[in-house]
Amino acid sequence: MSRFLKKSLQKIAEYVPGEQPKDKKYIKLNTNESPFSPAKNVLKVINNKSLSTLNLYPDPKCENLKNALKDLYEIEAENIFVANGSDDILNFAFMAYKSKEGVMFPKISYGFYPVFAKLHGIKFTEVPLKDDFSIDINDYKNQNKMIVIANPNAPTGLILKVAEIEEILKTNKDNIVLIDEAYIDFGGESCYKLIKKYDNLLVVRTFSKSRCLAGGRLGYAIASKEIIKDLEKIKYSTNPYNINRLSLALGEETIKNDGYYKNKCQEIIKVREYTAKKLKEMGFFVLPSFANFIFIKNNSIKGEKLYLSLKEKGVLVRHFSVKEIEDFCRVTIGTKKQMDIFLKTVKEILSGE
Ligand SMILES: *Cc1c(COP(=O)(O)O)cnc(C)c1O
Repeated sequence: MSRFLKKSLQKIAEYVPGEQPKDKKYIKLNTNESPFSPAKNVLKVINNKSLSTLNLYPDPKCENLKNALKDLYEIEAENIFVANGSDDILNFAFMAYKSKEGVMFPKISYGFYPVFAKLHGIKFTEVPLKDDFSIDINDYKNQNKMIVIANPNAPTGLILKVAEIEEILKTNKDNIVLIDEAYIDFGGESCYKLIKKYDNLLVVRTFSKSRCLAGGRLGYAIASKEIIKDLEKIKYSTNPYNINRLSLALGEETIKNDGYYKNKCQEIIKVREYTAKKLKEMGFFVLPSFANFIFIKNNSIKGEKLYLSLKEKGVLVRHFSVKEIEDFCRVTIGTKKQMDIFLKTVKEILSGE
């Protein structure tokens, strides 16, 4: 770093994304992307005609995309904010909000939350999970802190029920409760309808996982009109054109093809259950997942060893060097074919081949 960087920024350890190695072709099960391409109609959106308009700025209001989302969720356009990936929205939310005592989130969760807290100088509290890796909602009741929870949580894949989230909302009327629903389409129930009852709820969603569009960088938030106005204020104070024309068009077409994505989610769920069953037969402990990944461990092999051995054999999964979960690997659910190769490779590793 240069000697010019602000002191406050020098100390920040930045977020480390999952590796995207180029040394060989891997079966990539490490960053929770979809193994499926976007819908056919979505692919057609990028053509010479759309490219030829790149001399013009995109619509800063993102009206078409908001209208598509509004119809899908039966809410008003003023309840929706769209941005350059949900990380963009999380950044804005941490920039905008904190309560008297800062912000709190589960200790084992999305690794970006503490980075954003540090970046924006907010005191943060990391709440341990229960022994079974679930979130104890009692820890989040009646707090003087902004609350951030990924639901389903990552990397565990475990989920809170909407009624449990409502308990948290009810007892934190003066704090923002941010629910990060990056993985909600893989079998969970969204809490977004609660925005009608709770003006402190901010639901964050992404096109990256269930909408097969990680490379397009699109995220959206659903919340009270007042919260949405806050987020718009930050966007217009930093980068009003934060979503490019092509991604906006891809997003609109994605929503029009919702059926395709629903089917793909069902397929992922089916393959997830199949993979979990096969792993259990091999002696693995598999947390019950409501996401497009599974969190697994086997007492006969260390998490890091399994990760490294799989990598050597061309299968990439994610291992976190964090004490509570160092025995585990997080495995993204790919196609049935990919998972069969993964399972076969695991079997080889366990039998010492
Ligand atoms: C993947 C992920 C995100 C980031 O999604 P983008 O929209 O690609 O920025 C946010 N939160 C959680 C919990 C995630 O796993």
